[in-house]
Amino acid sequence: MTATKAQEHTIRYLLLVLCVISLSLLLIGFRYQQDTGKKNDMMLIRLVVGPLQVNCFILADDKTREAVIIDPGDDAQEILKIVKDKGLKVKYIVNTHGHFDHLGANKALKEATGAELLIHEGDAPMMASAQMQSRAFGMNTTSSPQADRFVKHGDMIRAGEVSLKVLHTPGHSPGGISLLEQGMVFTGDALFAGSIGRTDLPGGDLMTLLRSIKTNLMTLPDDTRVYCGHGPASTIGEERNENPFLNRQSGFD
Ligand SMILES: [Zn+2]
Ligand SMILES: [Zn+2]
Repeated sequence: MTATKAQEHTIRYLLLVLCVISLSLLLIGFRYQQDTGKKNDMMLIRLVVGPLQVNCFILADDKTREAVIIDPGDDAQEILKIVKDKGLKVKYIVNTHGHFDHLGANKALKEATGAELLIHEGDAPMMASAQMQSRAFGMNTTSSPQADRFVKHGDMIRAGEVSLKVLHTPGHSPGGISLLEQGMVFTGDALFAGSIGRTDLPGGDLMTLLRSIKTNLMTLPDDTRVYCGHGPASTIGEERNENPFLNRQSGFD
């Protein structure tokens, strides 16, 4: 009898271990599926807008059609045409920073879609003075409404399968942010292909910008795609090796 009980006990123990193992495998499998499925389920559209050629990005969930628009600097009608043609429900408009060239279409887009407008608090005063900034550059940008909500480092911005993690990357401006998705990062005017943002505008600081890039962007995997506020896309690896402000020859540590 004692032997049978011991056997029973062993069998029960083994069953429990098996259960735990299969549950873990199931969870790992589910996560993997979610991660790999994400890119396929997401659409990414780039538009070059306004006289300063800002990259405006539309990220949308293929199934739910929920979308986030990053830096609608100008050309609201063009952006809205895409929104309509693709049947998108814009949940958020995010400004990577408060410079006028990145937010000229905020007002029209917000009015047309009812989306929530997000920015980092550090650039809220800049956002409020967008029209004045643009006049200093001989342009006349439409003023932006105030942000509905401030985002900070570590926040997640979600619209269906789109989930952007906020990285605070000041230096080009005090409230500059980058937005991290799986395998890609939107860097605004902090990091460009082969260059970095200018730091001579109010609130700019070179050492702060270099620190932001090194801490929050250069720590990403080499194959992370970099989508910049102006100009072509790149990868973290390319910038690590080629960017004269960041590679070993830069002289900045
Ligand atoms: Zn800028
Ligand atoms: Zn810009």
